[in-house]
Amino acid sequence: MRILIIEDEKEIADGLETVLTKEGFQVDSVQDGLAGLDYLLSDIYDLVLLDIMLPKLNGIDVLKNARREGIDIPIIMLTAKSQIEDKIRGLDYGADDYITKPFEVGELLARIRARTRMVKNSEDGEVTLGNLWLNPTTQKIGTKSNSIKLGNKEFQLMECLIRNGGQILSKDMLIMKVWGMEEGIEYNNLEVYISFLRKKLRFVKANVGIVTTKGVGYSLEEETENGEESQK
Ligand code: CA
Repeated sequence: MRILIIEDEKEIADGLETVLTKEGFQVDSVQDGLAGLDYLLSDIYDLVLLDIMLPKLNGIDVLKNARREGIDIPIIMLTAKSQIEDKIRGLDYGADDYITKPFEVGELLARIRARTRMVKNSEDGEVTLGNLWLNPTTQKIGTKSNSIKLGNKEFQLMECLIRNGGQILSKDMLIMKVWGMEEGIEYNNLEVYISFLRKKLRFVKANVGIVTTKGVGYSLEEETENGEESQK
């Protein structure tokens, strides 16, 4: 697996490179946004760590350009502060996740592993994440132990979450995807559906859960080894 680091703070970039190389990744590192975009467009990377404040071209513009050019690999934003606005902006432009500097190495590696774990598609269109499957034909979710049918909106919401497994989706994006241009849909409508889905996930004994990232959105994540959903 090849990872690209786009980060102008040399100390951070060098630290990341050392850690990731030790973990067995192939790593390239560039210090400004223009070079970063150039490398990204070569389409040889499996994942990118992208700083926001960069010389020549900022991280958000690198992200926008890359997505416009059809680069669909996981991009994790490195944000200097825990600025919710930057996070939402990044996620809206197609970032998969963000991590706030300074970060723990263990946390970063966990995020990288989560982002590179692919959602599997079987032949009959079933989508799986962890022990959970979703069947678009029957609109059911289930595991080996149990299954349950979802209502129409629940199904659309669940499908969106599972197809973007591990990725944080903003509330606005989820509302757009499920309700479209329908008027009068508010965050608490979405929250109600999220709580329905959480109950159904528990009912089928799924080892994935819907994680809330406060003020940002939701993601569907596999539970960690100690049996708890990852916290953000
Ligand atoms: Ca920077």
